[in-house]
This record gives sequence, C-alpha cells and structure tokens, in this order.
Amino acid sequence: MMTTDYELVIIGGGVAGLTAGMYAARSQLKVILIEKLMPGGQILSSDWVENYPGFPEGINGADLSQRTAEQAIRFGLPIQSDEVLGITLKDHIKIIQLSNRIITTQALIIATGASPRKLNVPGEDNFFGKGVATCATCDGPFYKNRIVAAIGGGDTAVQESAYLTRFVQKLYLIHRRDELRATAILQERIKTNPKIEIIWNSVVTEVHGKDKLESITLQNTKTKTFQEVKVDGCFVWVGIIPNTQWLKQLVALDSTGFVVVNANMETSVPGIYAAGDVRNTPLRQLATAVGDGAIAAVSAQHYIESFK
Ligand code: NAP
Repeated sequence: MMTTDYELVIIGGGVAGLTAGMYAARSQLKVILIEKLMPGGQILSSDWVENYPGFPEGINGADLSQRTAEQAIRFGLPIQSDEVLGITLKDHIKIIQLSNRIITTQALIIATGASPRKLNVPGEDNFFGKGVATCATCDGPFYKNRIVAAIGGGDTAVQESAYLTRFVQKLYLIHRRDELRATAILQERIKTNPKIEIIWNSVVTEVHGKDKLESITLQNTKTKTFQEVKVDGCFVWVGIIPNTQWLKQLVALDSTGFVVVNANMETSVPGIYAAGDVRNTPLRQLATAVGDGAIAAVSAQHYIESFK
C-alpha cells in the first residue's frame, strides 16, 4: 500500500474539528488539523454560551474555543494555518493541495462549518465594516448609545440583539414574518427588553449612507409599502451557508449545500467524513458539533485500521 503523509487530516478548526483532532491525537493517529484563519470557528464571535454542559454559569465563546484547542494540543494535535485549495482522490488516498504544498492522507474529516448569509441588497457590501456587521462581540462596543438594526428572527439574531442592548440606545429587530423562529427562552428575554422594538413583516431592500451607514430601507411584506429607518449600525443575522464551495464535486451535498452524512459521519466517499455545522443536521449546536467530531474521529480510526 502506498504510504501517506498522514493517517488523518482534519479541515477546519471550529469545535467539531478540534474535538475530532483531540480524539484522533489521543488515539495516537498521525493527524494534522488545517485551519484557514485561527482555531475557534463561529463560536469565537459569541459573547456568551449558556447551553454547553459543564459550565453552569455560562462561558465566553472565545474562552471556550481556546480551552478546546488547548485540550487538543495537549494530546499532541498539530494545528497548521493554511488554506485547502483542492482535493483529489487516488484509490483510497486523498491528495490535498494546500497554498504551497501537497499532503496525502488516508482519511479526511471536513469540519469547515458555515458562514453568515448575506442579505444581498444594494449597499450591503459597500458598508460592510462601516455600519453593516455580523459580529456583536467584535463590533457592539462601537455602537455605545447609538441606534442599530438587527435583521433576522432566529436564535442568532435574538441572542445577539439581547447582547447588543448592553451598548446601544435602541435596537430595531427586523423580521420578515410575524413570529420569531428563535427558541422560546431567548424570545422571552427580548420581548421584555425596553431597548428593543420589533418591526414585523419587514425585509431590508437597501442600505444607505455617505462615508458610513446612515439608514436602511424596509419593505413591509404584507402591505408592500416602504419606510426608511435611520440607524448607525445594521447587524445581519439571516442564517448561515455551509462552507462547501471549495469541495466542488468531491462528496454529495444536499440541495442547500450541506454535506450529506450517515450516523457515522461518513460522506459519499469512503474515508471522508464531515462533522459540525457543515453537515446536514437537524440541530446546529456546540453540543452536537462536539458529538459529530468524536464520531467522525472514531469512524476514521476504524477506516484507517482496516488497511493495517
Ligand atoms: P436560522 O435559524 O436559519 O434563522 C435565520 C433567520 O433569518 C430566520 O428567522 C429567517 O426567517 C431569517 N432570514 C433568512 N433569510 C432571510 C432574508 N433573506 N431576509 C430576511 N430574513 C431572513 O439561523 P441562525 O439564527 O443563524 O442560527 C443558525 C443555527 O445555529 C440554528 O440551528 C440555531 O438554532 C443555532 N444557534 C443556536 C444558538 C443557541 O442555542 N443559543 C445560538 C445561535 C445559533 P424565517 O424565520 O422566516 O425563515
């Protein structure tokens, strides 16, 4: 059998990838984790995590990801900052093109997560970083005593809006329906928050300003009428899109681009697994990402052992 540089390569350093890496390193597999930016994933931009077991008082998202990375590194997981440009297959070997070298592996775990979805309205890109934002922890303090809009009705929009009210004078939560998608406990928290006004049945059609954001145009989805709302900031939380564009035709994706896996986290290609937000899953939580990562690592280990 042709030898490979690694037994297992993990792509993506969010909580799913780090957990897979910890299990693999602890099982003494020859493993490496490749992360484009810095380890941590989406949870890095979450101020407070209160539903992750073991932290009854809650924990800051960046602290939790740092602790998870430290734990994986303690078991010997190497983490390399690099970008995967493409993957090809030769028999059971996976050949991975990095920015300036090629590595080979027997098994591969895709844990590249998901990114915030954009509104795709005029002005959004121009004012990104100049009023349009997606990270409350990073940008919230810039909006002390200002007026902001938050777009979306899911857990992220509701949870992050509540956090923003530590800083802002007023927050308009703009949702396209007349009912929020977020879990009940989060909804309760914002419905009684005096700084939050919910604008129902409305979508953003344009964002405006000169050097920085000054206002947004909303259209009522029922009456079709428009209104302009003056805001200093506009936080966009309208869901996530999987980071699978780079995968091209490698593994089967569902109609929305998430990687299709079975209960063992196996994709359509033997020896390739997916874990966390990047996969088709009924629940996207830290707790499920951790479980996915552990299952993917053990499945990969069984696959690797089958060649020995
Ligand atoms: P999400 O659950 O998909 O919600 C997206 C929200 O944006 C929905 O309310 C949706 O409206 C709205 N939306 C989508 N496209 C839109 C558009 N073009 N214009 C206006 N509104 C639009 O996404 P998420 O809130 O980012 O959450 C992602 C996942 O992470 C979920 O599984 C969530 O449960 C999880 N999460 C959990 C927690 C927690 O447990 N504390 C915190 C954050 C995230 P409709 O409702 O009409 O579809």
